[in-house]
Amino acid sequence: MPTDEKFWNPYRLIPVKENIVSDSPQTHESFKGKSGLISCTLKNLTPLFVGKNSLNEQLFLTRNGRHVIPGSSFKGMLRSLSEIIGGGCHVTDPRGQYSKSLAACHNAQKLCIACRMFGMMERGSHAKVHMGNVSIGDALIREEKPQPLTLQVLLSSCGTRHEPFYRTPKTGRLDGKSRKFYFHQPQRTESVPNIPENLQSRAQNINALKPGHHFDFEVHFTNLNKEEIELLIYTLVLEENSQVEIGEEKVKLNGPLRHKIGHGKPLGLGSCHITINKIVYLTDSKQRFASLQQSSDTVFEGESLKNEISGLTRRYAGDNSEVMQQLRKMLIWDESDTRNFGYPDYYWFKNPVNSQKILKNI
Ligand SMILES: [Zn+2]
Repeated sequence: MPTDEKFWNPYRLIPVKENIVSDSPQTHESFKGKSGLISCTLKNLTPLFVGKNSLNEQLFLTRNGRHVIPGSSFKGMLRSLSEIIGGGCHVTDPRGQYSKSLAACHNAQKLCIACRMFGMMERGSHAKVHMGNVSIGDALIREEKPQPLTLQVLLSSCGTRHEPFYRTPKTGRLDGKSRKFYFHQPQRTESVPNIPENLQSRAQNINALKPGHHFDFEVHFTNLNKEEIELLIYTLVLEENSQVEIGEEKVKLNGPLRHKIGHGKPLGLGSCHITINKIVYLTDSKQRFASLQQSSDTVFEGESLKNEISGLTRRYAGDNSEVMQQLRKMLIWDESDTRNFGYPDYYWFKNPVNSQKILKNI
């Protein structure tokens, strides 16, 4: 919420890690790290809408008549979490306009952890490409008869960009050292806020899905080192038990950390729970040639999977840096969270008294 107001803006800017460690990526020819696949399921906790490009689409994206979430949506979500948690470059700032130290990687042999994992493209005439060591497939819906939910939304927000809301909280400047995240809105299970009469002309119905649908997908990885696989697993499952205290109101929330995917995040849409069903590590290809035996891939399921995940996520779950503490405040999912979310109205933005007002710290 802005200072002096009772409602909460749906988003906040949270800091990123500033110590970027660059390294050359493991190429696919030389087998050095772990390779394999992770099978996952996403369950949506609030209504979900994935359109082709934006909310301008009315229909949920489908393939052969079935609802689908494209792998690129997962990739975007995991990449942005990896940049924040693992210390990655600012891909949308190629020239280091905001912050020299966070400028987008420009040399395919010297990449931050997010570019090593998810890929990058050099600029210029002899540009090299690093494809990335993680690829994510599309997620198809499991339910035969999905339960639709028609929601009326605004095509675009009010268009006002109030600069003070976008400053990095700690520095008070627009320096690119923070990222925008949306709070979960657990009360938002069946509806979205009503659209005022005067904005009805910009409203449109979208065909969302009710909470409780399942989408299955696979993540393939090649030559990941220990730090990279830990980051990948953590960004997929996050944490199951977290406690936070938000802002000067000291709003106490308890619960797991959850993701957001798809459109309508400011309205509370797209909260989801990702679970890992199985992790398979492929046998070293050299060993495989040498032994002439059936592959002896290592498979983690059930109890052994729990242990493997808890080992791999320990480092980040135990990270109490400022960045992680702020991130937890944004990702926490607590069903008893009754905060009132909304934006200031047109008149608030037009009032000169508010021109320098920032959002309250969390
Ligand atoms: Zn990078």
